Amino acid sequence: MKTSHHMKYIKTILLLLIAASVSAQTIIKPDAQIKQMVDEVSAKNIEATIRKLVSFKTRHVLSDTTSKATGIGAARNWIKAEMERYAAASNGRMTVAFDTFTQPKSGRIDKPVMIKNVLATLKGTDPNDTRVYLVSGHYDSRINDVMDGNGVEPGANDDASGTALSMELARVMAKRSFPATIIFMAVAAEEQGLYGSEHVAKRAKAENWNVDAMLNNDIVGNSHGMETDLKDNRSVRVFSDGIPTNATDKQMAALKSLGGENDSPSRELARYAKETGERYVDQLDVKLIYRRDRYLRGGDHLPFLEQGFTAVRFTEMNEDFNRQHQNIRTENGVDYGDLPDFVDFNYVQKVARMNLSVLANLALAPAQPQKAGIITSDLTNKTKLTWEAPSTGKKPAGYYVLMRETTSAFWERKFYVTDTTATLAYSKDNYFFAVQSVDADGHESLPVFPKPVR
Ligand SMILES: [Zn+2]
Repeated sequence: MKTSHHMKYIKTILLLLIAASVSAQTIIKPDAQIKQMVDEVSAKNIEATIRKLVSFKTRHVLSDTTSKATGIGAARNWIKAEMERYAAASNGRMTVAFDTFTQPKSGRIDKPVMIKNVLATLKGTDPNDTRVYLVSGHYDSRINDVMDGNGVEPGANDDASGTALSMELARVMAKRSFPATIIFMAVAAEEQGLYGSEHVAKRAKAENWNVDAMLNNDIVGNSHGMETDLKDNRSVRVFSDGIPTNATDKQMAALKSLGGENDSPSRELARYAKETGERYVDQLDVKLIYRRDRYLRGGDHLPFLEQGFTAVRFTEMNEDFNRQHQNIRTENGVDYGDLPDFVDFNYVQKVARMNLSVLANLALAPAQPQKAGIITSDLTNKTKLTWEAPSTGKKPAGYYVLMRETTSAFWERKFYVTDTTATLAYSKDNYFFAVQSVDADGHESLPVFPKPVR
């Protein structure tokens, strides 16, 4: 299926070239600079970070904060210091800070507790580009009793794996420059109710951050299924909402009338992650899952969705629930516990490389087109789209109009244009369309699903 999809894709590009309206530079080929960064992502570093995080014994939000060796205080100080070490290679462009707040007594917090997220911000080099990209893992851990702050709570896969991923990307990307800003996060209190991520999401909203995408990595290190014994180190799931989590009644009415329930901004980001990730990482299938998260579970992308931002969750293909949230023990011959020896570090490396390619391609690309509209004033078998150049950052070299069958999961055709309008000989009633900006090197923005315009 993947092969035929790609064949179709290559054929489309060739046809477009023959049509002569497209210059050779719009052939999609991997960017050597991104490929170099992807190659630098190291399984060894990821392993060292995960083992170090586990060495703090517990990173539970209610654990000790005064010891230098154990507990969440020691863990977050180490994460911050390590990020600062990476930032030293950034010529002052990367700054590292705690994002601190006091969480009042609440469901899984028995007394007011100070929570500290670690944010490493790699400032964009274009002062006229306000875009912000976020990548995140949660560094807090838990065992069976979610209120137990004193146990041995290694949290190697959940979620030292996502934390190590975010940190490894900070290490590799700190040495490079991007026009847009990238923030590498290690957040806390996910296990107690997503409080750390919620604090950043609300702050981003209040301070008007121009967040273009948030990538949440949670449980990205195990490559076999518990009772099914499935082994799969070449698939990763990306969860995205279909109907936007914060959709208004008016937006819901438009979805009912016209479709588009498979084209939320987060679903477009999920498709983008598949296309870009598979362009740069061998032997990795990015599997779109058409739901916001798994049954009985939530994650740090949810507070961002609630604030109206575009966000997805990456998680391993098959899970071993005996190695999540478990006291370390053997019971009826079964081993329990989220220990580093059960993390597949080469697999985390692949997922990290995919995340890096997505972040780099987005941060190097021009911003999304603005006010994308599909003209609906006439009954016609053609489709006319209009949009405006992005209001922030560099000017795009051109735009791709994307098209697919209404029943297709992925974009099937790309039409390259340099104008801010396009008329296609395909009916808007029969296909879905979107528009994305592209620069001369082929870096694409996220696609925008157009709104009907009369
Ligand atoms: Zn988790």
